[in-house]
Amino acid sequence: MALANFFDKAAASAADVLRDFDREAFRDRLQAQVIGVAFDGSAARSREGQATLDLAVRCLARLYPRLVLVPLGDTPARFGRALRELALGINPALEMDLDPGLVTLCLTVGRMRAGAPVEVFTGSDRWIAKVSCREPVGCGRSSNPFGAGAAACLGAANIFRAVFGDQLKKGALDENGRLSLLNFATGDAAKNGSLDVGLDLTSSSLVGLGAIGNAAVWALARLPGARGAPFMVEPEPVDLSNLQRYVLALQRHVGQTKLNLAHEAFAGGDIKPRLIHATWAEFVQGLGHAPLDRVAAALDSAHDRVQVQAALPRRVFNAWTQTGDLGVSRHDFLEGPCLACLYLPTGATLHQDELIRQALGLDAEQRVRLREMLVRGDAVGPAFTEEVAGVLGLAPDALAPFAGLPLHAFYREAICGGVVLRLGGKPAGVEAPLVFQSALAGLMLAAELVADVAGTRRQPLPTKSVLDVTRPLPQRLGVALRRAERADGVRCLCEDRDFVDTYRVRYGRTPLDERLASEEILE
Ligand SMILES: [Zn+2]
Repeated sequence: MALANFFDKAAASAADVLRDFDREAFRDRLQAQVIGVAFDGSAARSREGQATLDLAVRCLARLYPRLVLVPLGDTPARFGRALRELALGINPALEMDLDPGLVTLCLTVGRMRAGAPVEVFTGSDRWIAKVSCREPVGCGRSSNPFGAGAAACLGAANIFRAVFGDQLKKGALDENGRLSLLNFATGDAAKNGSLDVGLDLTSSSLVGLGAIGNAAVWALARLPGARGAPFMVEPEPVDLSNLQRYVLALQRHVGQTKLNLAHEAFAGGDIKPRLIHATWAEFVQGLGHAPLDRVAAALDSAHDRVQVQAALPRRVFNAWTQTGDLGVSRHDFLEGPCLACLYLPTGATLHQDELIRQALGLDAEQRVRLREMLVRGDAVGPAFTEEVAGVLGLAPDALAPFAGLPLHAFYREAICGGVVLRLGGKPAGVEAPLVFQSALAGLMLAAELVADVAGTRRQPLPTKSVLDVTRPLPQRLGVALRRAERADGVRCLCEDRDFVDTYRVRYGRTPLDERLASEEILE
């Protein structure tokens, strides 16, 4: 068995996107594949090629049980050793010593072909990721991590589509795809440019070091000569199921704080992040509600995002993954929709007790009891696990190993972690993106932040850039939005006089400044 010990979570994430999902068939299909990662000397010697290979291995080793590194031409053997160590750090049970002749599907970086039955060629040129199922695409020599990282994600997405295409709506491979993380456009519209060396990130904050935050850190830690002391805010530890899609997380990190992943990623570099072990609300309070210049939000709930916007940062960037798409949005509080506009509740949102009640399939009157359990935080106990097992149609002792956990952890491990799915039950409403989806969202978030700090963009982009990597690259990613307005007349923060005045005073934005700013944009 070479499947990872967090395979349950991987199965839960695949169940989210694949039609007619069957756990046994999913596992069999994974085990029938031998995935190759091939690279020639040009890839091994270039910074972009190295970055693509690093992130590709970080993605592929989390799902496929058989992964073979295939050096091509005269590639130095030592290069493959680091990748091998990395892969085994993610899944120590991986089968990696198979004959390269057995490779069924290959992700190939560089200018050479590996000659596998199906080959996905991927590479980059600065801000632009390239992917093709036809011919090698080469890799650039810059130290820009964004095209290179996105190339790894698009390559892994194509490998996934090559395996499971018949269970996806549009599972074809990219014939000749190009995606720019500078202007978030594809094909001929993809723009490129140089990346300033030595950017200072001190005035920036990253909130959330989950799956999206992990990939953002991966990219920021590779910026050439970047420096400064950005805030990074995250209260939680790494648990085993996180390994399914946290690109920085290895087995040895389980139980450590998520902040430690960032600490390790930036070690030895000139970026010295200020790591804040707290929730966003605690962090903002601790700062005494001081101005925040740029905040990149890598969060997973509408509630948390509205809280970020309510703290009134000067600029906010936001990334998300959800069933069907992923993307990044950008917000100025005075112009266009703010982050809260995108997440203004249009109906009653579910509180955690209700969310858990529905996922566990318990009766409506159990909600109060669940709320009390959440507040108390005691172990759920064997009577509870037996009751839930009964409701979900499982054997009475099936969930017994989780009896020692408090309710929120029981929900995360047994339900969101995919254990219930493995046991044949059907939890409702559990979303878990695939690793290459979260990773691409994180890279887009970091690219957005860096392009803004560097002032690289000539023209402002629409509010959102949206992409679905379970199908070939689209023609357009941009979505222009207006401010949120609800039928019942409830308005967003950005329409609230007190919030607007506070923002203006805090950032010295008088109405005149605003006019000048918008004239500059029009030039
Ligand atoms: Zn708003």
